[in-house]
Amino acid sequence: MMSCDAPGSTPLVGEISSLVSQGARRYCAPDGLRPKSLRSVISAKESRIVAAGASDAGLAGAPAARFSEEVGEPGASVRHCNLCGARTAVRVPESDHLPRHVCTACDHVQYLNPRIVVGCIPEAPDGRVLLCRRRVAPQNGLWTFPSGFMELGETTAQGASREALEETCADVAVGTLLAIINVHRVAQVYFVYRAKLLGSHHAPTSESIETRLIHEDEIPWPELAFPSVWHGLKHYFADRSCGAELVHTMDLVVPH
Ligand SMILES: [Zn+2]
Repeated sequence: MMSCDAPGSTPLVGEISSLVSQGARRYCAPDGLRPKSLRSVISAKESRIVAAGASDAGLAGAPAARFSEEVGEPGASVRHCNLCGARTAVRVPESDHLPRHVCTACDHVQYLNPRIVVGCIPEAPDGRVLLCRRRVAPQNGLWTFPSGFMELGETTAQGASREALEETCADVAVGTLLAIINVHRVAQVYFVYRAKLLGSHHAPTSESIETRLIHEDEIPWPELAFPSVWHGLKHYFADRSCGAELVHTMDLVVPH
């Protein structure tokens, strides 16, 4: 049970970071659409959560409702070498101990690693937090705090700020780290930050049906998009109730 007393980028990277920032701003223009090239294309499939919680086992009581997590389809992206285009084969390369996708022509190794998801919980001066309803699959129509895949050329905090802008049109000041959540079944790691809402503007985007400032006792818990959102918000309000700003770590277990 959690308690209150618990304890120089390269030019290329800089260029990419600038493009991502410009894309996020353009995304909030009245008729703006974020260029697809600025966001990694992912596919998704549904999973069901059966258990959650490791170091913060006291918050393992996420509702047994149906959840899904975004997951890439790595097989589709590595059938061909991204250097020469030849077919790949799965084998253990020299000086490695795990099977990898290796090019059959040039021996280039294409590594698959977990994706980082960055997000934040923006709080208004009156204590309400900014949530949005997803316009995109999976979990279309369900609620989340702004979050999404980290982009090249940005830090986790910068990514959290960018996602807030992209999904809610809100400017935020990202604060302390709230939680690191492993969803290893789908190869994702969440970095969730506390944040302050700057100004009062927020609005739907092409990724969000609705944005809303919500009091703690009005959070639509059964309508949250992902278990990571549920746990992030639970940690946030538990800490806030006692003036703490802890960093929580947990593993969410999603079955095959
Ligand atoms: Zn190749």
